[in-house]
Amino acid sequence: YSLDHFVIPPHYTEDLESILIPHGIIMDRIERLAKLIVDDSDGPLVVCCVLKGGHQFFADLVNCIKKLNTGLGHSVPLHLDFIKVKSYTNDQSTGEVRVSLSETELKDIKGKNLLIVEDIIDTGRTMVKLLSKLREFDPKSVRVASLLLKKTPLSNGYIPDYVGFAVPDSFVVGYALDYNEYFRDLDHICVISDHGKKAYAA
Ligand code: 5GP
Ligand code: MG
Ligand code: MG
Repeated sequence: YSLDHFVIPPHYTEDLESILIPHGIIMDRIERLAKLIVDDSDGPLVVCCVLKGGHQFFADLVNCIKKLNTGLGHSVPLHLDFIKVKSYTNDQSTGEVRVSLSETELKDIKGKNLLIVEDIIDTGRTMVKLLSKLREFDPKSVRVASLLLKKTPLSNGYIPDYVGFAVPDSFVVGYALDYNEYFRDLDHICVISDHGKKAYAA
């Protein structure tokens, strides 16, 4: 979509190539994902947000599930949890994946149904590492909802249980996804421009 047709914060006008997914479409898709997740759930769900990029998707997804919970269908009690994972500098994966979660927090997941909420799966390395770490602590089940799945030849083959949108192999920002901490304050999912990459390089 052309940048001219949507509201962009003026501080980012030169830094974006195009709008890939407008905010309204993201919201509609999340409503549908929430329905799928509720239909698949049986009993309480620990919804675990992968910070920082997953926070907006997490917030909107949880809101949608809460709305479904007030309807006539079966409702799903939610526990909300947060973990922090970091693997990127500029638009390159650093290879190492840092997971910040205390032993006590990890022990709490034993016997629970987990739903991990992530912003984007690129190579899949982060999620595979995170999942193997979480499984050591004996959850009853683990599912993953990722708003985006990148179509990349570097994929390790990992596919999440719930995907919002497949995106092309470019670096995307907005809706809490960052480039060196910038662009999280942008509603739409956008492709960053060369100007943007230079302006906010680490
Ligand atoms: P992976 O380990 O799957 O290669 O990358 C996982 C993490 O890298 C994602 O959760 C996300 O935080 C970051 N990442 C990968 N691709 C992109 C992208 O296009 N844009 C942004 N902002 N982050 C990305
Ligand atoms: Mg992430
Ligand atoms: Mg990031």
